[in-house]
Amino acid sequence: MAKERMLQFVTVEREMPEKRPADLRAQDFHEIYREFAAQKAAEQASRCSQCGVPYCQSHCPLHNNIPDWLRMTASGRLEEAYALSQATNTFPEICGRICPQDRLCEGNCVIEQSGHGTVTIGSVEKYITDTAWENGWVKPVKPAVERAESVGIIGAGPGGLAAADMLRRKGFQVTVYDRYDRAGGLLTYGIPGFKLEKPVVMQRIDQLEASGVNFVMNCKVGEDLSFDAIRGQHDAVLIATGVYKMRDVGGPGVGQKGIVQALDYLTASNRKSFGDEVEAFDNGDLDASGKRVVVIGGGDTAMDCVRTAIRQGATSVKCLYRRDKANMPGSRRETQNAEEEGVEFVWLAAPKGFAGNGAVEGVMVQKMRLGAPDATGRQTPEVIEGADYVEPADLVITALGFEPEDLPVLWGVPELAVTRWGTVKADFQTHQTALPGVFAAGDIVRGASLVVWAIRDGREAADAIEAYLAQPASVAAE
Ligand SMILES: Cc1cc2nc3c(=O)[nH]c(=O)nc-3n(C[C@H](O)[C@H](O)[C@H](O)COP(=O)(O)OP(=O)(O)OC[C@H]3O[C@@H](n4cnc5c(N)ncnc54)[C@H](O)[C@@H]3O)c2cc1C
Ligand code: SF4
Repeated sequence: MAKERMLQFVTVEREMPEKRPADLRAQDFHEIYREFAAQKAAEQASRCSQCGVPYCQSHCPLHNNIPDWLRMTASGRLEEAYALSQATNTFPEICGRICPQDRLCEGNCVIEQSGHGTVTIGSVEKYITDTAWENGWVKPVKPAVERAESVGIIGAGPGGLAAADMLRRKGFQVTVYDRYDRAGGLLTYGIPGFKLEKPVVMQRIDQLEASGVNFVMNCKVGEDLSFDAIRGQHDAVLIATGVYKMRDVGGPGVGQKGIVQALDYLTASNRKSFGDEVEAFDNGDLDASGKRVVVIGGGDTAMDCVRTAIRQGATSVKCLYRRDKANMPGSRRETQNAEEEGVEFVWLAAPKGFAGNGAVEGVMVQKMRLGAPDATGRQTPEVIEGADYVEPADLVITALGFEPEDLPVLWGVPELAVTRWGTVKADFQTHQTALPGVFAAGDIVRGASLVVWAIRDGREAADAIEAYLAQPASVAAE
């Protein structure tokens, strides 16, 4: 019944809003949706075969106790399911929404392997925690004992916030510094709202503030406050700054109006959803509405750009990728979503430059074929000579990935060891860097990765910081 009502609602809303029956008003939607979600969650949870070989659990970076919380959900014990789920995951409702489950828990579900379609673990996880929020089961942290030691966390993304939560639970005084005006890192300004609604992120930030986490926003470490000053103010420091240096496209015509970087484009769109004034969006530069949009890249960020452009009302959206569909680095599910929404993929196509006379008019494309495998076994794209053409575009968005900023130079700390890729060197279990009392977590250590891994790192780093602060001062300083 709930499903029928929901479908009726969606169909009427989409196809003939003027004929919406009087008993089916927008305010009913939430109620209908909740009923539908409850039914769906119970249905999916009861599909779990409790197989005894929980590959789903071992392929979840947080090793969530999935079979047990599915069993509890199937039998209506939602508060217990929530308690179990949040014991291993700081932000289950966020992971439930945006983990690439097809590559993690759901991709390893035994039922999926046997060809009967995976249990939709992520949506059940989301349902459990959304219900917990609605029922007031998610409470601010009240540590049993307050401790005098303080920890400074640089970066308010999922890595930093997961550590902040765990450290407050242990009673430490926690201050999080971030250069943005809002906390959340890429949860707030990178990932689009149609995948992760912003109120879902903001309620977590509010909860952390209510738990006693002190946020210092609009504070760019290295410019507004030195790294040494932060070290001087705290007994331990966690670096969780993510990776933000965007890889660029070269070639003639670069730098023209209308060629923009993915994160600038997505940040502007996310800021608008908060109601902010964004000059570069309001003057049309970062708005895809009415434009022919070409996105360059084949990862998840590219998928977020094409799907955002569709929602902004672009007249056409194409995605150029230099390999073929089978070799796309992004999530299959995301690519499929984009295709269903009307995005056209141009496989085996690499940008060579840009046409236009000050304002971009198109992307100069080289057609590619896949040649011999490289050392990693992946086929190398090769240019097909004489097959170049221009793909018309009014807005080109480059989404070729991210690299770490040069923290030792930017922060004036050459002793902070980094890898040859520029990521901060940290012990993979304790997350301790080359500097005593300084730890690092998330993308700044792994390179561009996933939210769930940043959460795991942040939680582990909090444990390691606790152990470090428990040592006698002479040992800790070594
Ligand atoms: C567009 C996009 C979409 C994505 N979609 C997904 C997805 O669907 N699912 C998924 O699992 N992962 C996704 N990811 C990856 C995921 O967002 C990251 O792996 C994750 O956010 C990393 O967390 P983090 O805490 O390490 O860093 P971040 O989230 O990047 O947070 C770092 C924070 O540090 C702050 N900071 C940086 N330098 C300084 C400084 N000098 N001083 C003060 N503050 C500083 C930044 O402002 C930022 O708030 C996506 C990434 C992008 C770019
Ligand atoms: S955290 Fe991610 S991988 Fe783990 S169970 Fe949840 S959705 Fe799956």
